[in-house]
Amino acid sequence: MNNPPVHIPESLKTVAEIFASASYQCWLVGGAVRDGLLNRDSEDYDLATDAEPEDVIKLFRRTIPTGIKHGTITILVGSHQFETTTFRKDGDYSDGRRPDKVSYSKNILDDLARRDFTINAIAWDLINNRLLDPHHGREDLKKQIIRAIGNPEERLQEDGLRSIRACRFASQLGFSIHPETMKAISENLSNIPSISAERIWEELKKIFATEQPSISFNLFLDTGLLNILLPELSECAGVTPKGKHVFDVFNHSIKACNLTERDNMPLRAAALFHDIGKPSVKNKTENGEVTFYRHEVIGAEITERILYRYKASNADRNRITSLVRHHKFHYTEEWTDAAVRRFMADVGLDIIDDLIALRMADTAAISSDKAISTDNLKELMGRVKGTLEAEFALSIGSLKVNGKDIIAFLGLKPGPVLGNILEYLLDCVIEDPECNEHNRLLDMAAIWYKNYD
Ligand code: ATP
Ligand code: MG
Repeated sequence: MNNPPVHIPESLKTVAEIFASASYQCWLVGGAVRDGLLNRDSEDYDLATDAEPEDVIKLFRRTIPTGIKHGTITILVGSHQFETTTFRKDGDYSDGRRPDKVSYSKNILDDLARRDFTINAIAWDLINNRLLDPHHGREDLKKQIIRAIGNPEERLQEDGLRSIRACRFASQLGFSIHPETMKAISENLSNIPSISAERIWEELKKIFATEQPSISFNLFLDTGLLNILLPELSECAGVTPKGKHVFDVFNHSIKACNLTERDNMPLRAAALFHDIGKPSVKNKTENGEVTFYRHEVIGAEITERILYRYKASNADRNRITSLVRHHKFHYTEEWTDAAVRRFMADVGLDIIDDLIALRMADTAAISSDKAISTDNLKELMGRVKGTLEAEFALSIGSLKVNGKDIIAFLGLKPGPVLGNILEYLLDCVIEDPECNEHNRLLDMAAIWYKNYD
């Protein structure tokens, strides 16, 4: 093959020429080659070279010592960044995470042999224009298989993250995992707990961004990874919900996750976790009816714990937890306009759209029946939009009086009473938006205060 498997930007050609002029090799490796051979776009270009990190720093004007200990330097050219790693030969991995020592090599074949899967170990020589595929990655690309390089047992014992990556690639590419690699994943779970929280969360976020995250979560369940990574979700397997549900809570959750927008990570995570409180609150009434009382409250607590565990950002944690906390609303067309406004004020305008989208996915994931209607939720979406356009006051900040006005009018001292008055006024305005007039609100505050006294 003499044509590059992927479009090579000018800045990358320049990088390769600079390496060549100093008699170094420069290979494109990893995701870009794999995705290029699959005719998929790739944004990041990983490079491998025999130049040692210090040499790379000397050769290029702008570099970042990203992972200099492991031989990785980022080269900056124009708007592009190229992660460049010196050919490596690994030593032993005694902790199941990082090799004890990395030694550099002059041979690309050593470097490809220490990579994770055959499809990730294809390299394109950017200087001599040739493809190198010693582990038959292209055959596996054709067969749509993820297969560990060499002895799967050893490869997965060396680095537990590879097991999670295998499941992630299965979702990302729609491939299956080779049976021996699958067996090796199931039989080498002991090093999973030592993987850092940040790296696992990065993988989970990549899974959320795939077309069908359910593929990864099913593989997690089948291999036993789920028990370690998300035991709370594992407990949902086999728990049968009530009503029209045909799936257990685990299958319902991963289906709901698939049915949400791909590039909205918090929404996808909330869909996966929305019923995670069900196993712990499951109960039976005297007449044998199954109940999941307050599962959204307990579910939000469990979700928050999971997200702390994985060191998710505060913004992501708060958003996902709020969505889980509020997901159990039952909209009907009988809701008055005031009820819609109250709902919006309660859940908060920042999550309202996602919350309705979550409810739609939740409803559609009750069974495989395509006829399940989410029309009423579409109607709610329309009413929410109308309410926003009408700019009704839904928060204390949009009242036509503020704390200072009330203090001055009533001769109040600042204190908790003021908060109570403002909340009362907001309540009235949500019920009847016409009350939102300066003088009228002051009069209402005075009446409230008189009765309070
Ligand atoms: P993507 O960028 O879509 O996540 P990728 O395959 O490029 O996919 P990276 O994490 O960017 O993944 O890694 C680049 C390459 O480095 C991989 O293709 C693989 O060859 C190698 N690699 C990454 N992580 C590991 C690992 N844990 N063990 C062995 N090789 C790895
Ligand atoms: Mg990559």
